[in-house]
Amino acid sequence: METRVLLPTEENISFAARLLNDGEVVGMPTETVYGLAANAFDGNAVEKIFRAKGRPQDNPLIVHIDSMERLEQVAAEMPETASRLAERFWPGPLTMILPKNSRIPAAVTAGLDTVAVRFPSHKVALALIREADMPLAAPSANLSGSPSPTTANHVYNDLNGRIPAILDGGACEYGLESTVILLNRDSSVTLLRPGGVTVEMLEQAVPQVRIDQGVLHAVQEGEAVLSPGLLHKHYSPRANVVILDCGFEVFAEFLAQHADGKTGALVFEGEERFLSVPCVTFGREEDPMIQARLLFSALRAVDEMGVDTIYARMPNPDGIGLAIYNRLLRAAGFEVLRLPGKNV
Ligand code: AMP
Ligand code: MG
Repeated sequence: METRVLLPTEENISFAARLLNDGEVVGMPTETVYGLAANAFDGNAVEKIFRAKGRPQDNPLIVHIDSMERLEQVAAEMPETASRLAERFWPGPLTMILPKNSRIPAAVTAGLDTVAVRFPSHKVALALIREADMPLAAPSANLSGSPSPTTANHVYNDLNGRIPAILDGGACEYGLESTVILLNRDSSVTLLRPGGVTVEMLEQAVPQVRIDQGVLHAVQEGEAVLSPGLLHKHYSPRANVVILDCGFEVFAEFLAQHADGKTGALVFEGEERFLSVPCVTFGREEDPMIQARLLFSALRAVDEMGVDTIYARMPNPDGIGLAIYNRLLRAAGFEVLRLPGKNV
């Protein structure tokens, strides 16, 4: 099968919607990352997503909706806190775990009785859901384990020959996957995955935000998890990534001492001029929105450098920085070297 990359014209969106109605999968842009979409009511179509990505069956998918009416076909109920958060943050990069409607097959939720739901803001995603007239189950459109795709080209590189079509909506605005939360009975929420809707933003809307330990710590084998996705390896370039928690001068000093011909660096824009190893940059130190947008492209570029070890700068973990740090931590297999002289 040759994968077609299509501009999101009205005609091409109709074509993609027909593919979805025929039980096929389609790559679609969203404001977070590119998704690999299928009819959320059709278990066989959803199985194709898992096959194309090589995704473990026990990792449930997010279902995308284009209206609050469509939500009723997906979730069995909408707790008060969820309605409040929806009003504030939808459409946008927030995924809520809700009780599942019986129309959603087990393949979507990995057998759980809850379903992850998101109302994206990207025009093309919304047009596709509306035209196909169905909720779309869609994980990130990458091969499982590799960095999530933020351009149609990333999707093509990973999935060419495995899916019939990709709608090319340009580069994604956020560049990191959505924030995922659980709603607790006491109207607090638990953050399972940080994203564009930050802890600080959620705190404006609910009395308390708990951060699940899987956000900053590796889950041990056999440990119970609230989000199955936390068990799986993620965002990994082939090179071994190590985060150095220190200021730039200490970072540069460390590299001068430890680099060999097989070492590279993942640094903030401008810093590469002061280093003598091959570098990939991901935005300026003071611009976390751009860092978020560029991180996954940077991790893909790291693979093309042909180095064994990549030392990475530590992002500031406030605001959207928590999401950047979380993805980088997972890419690094949670390997962080804390060096003295942090603020040099
Ligand atoms: P992805 O589709 O690659 O963006 O990953 C979706 C994320 O949402 C994974 O980390 C899943 O574990 C998580 N998720 C999806 N459905 C549920 C659910 N019902 N309960 C908890 N986490 C979920
Ligand atoms: Mg993913």
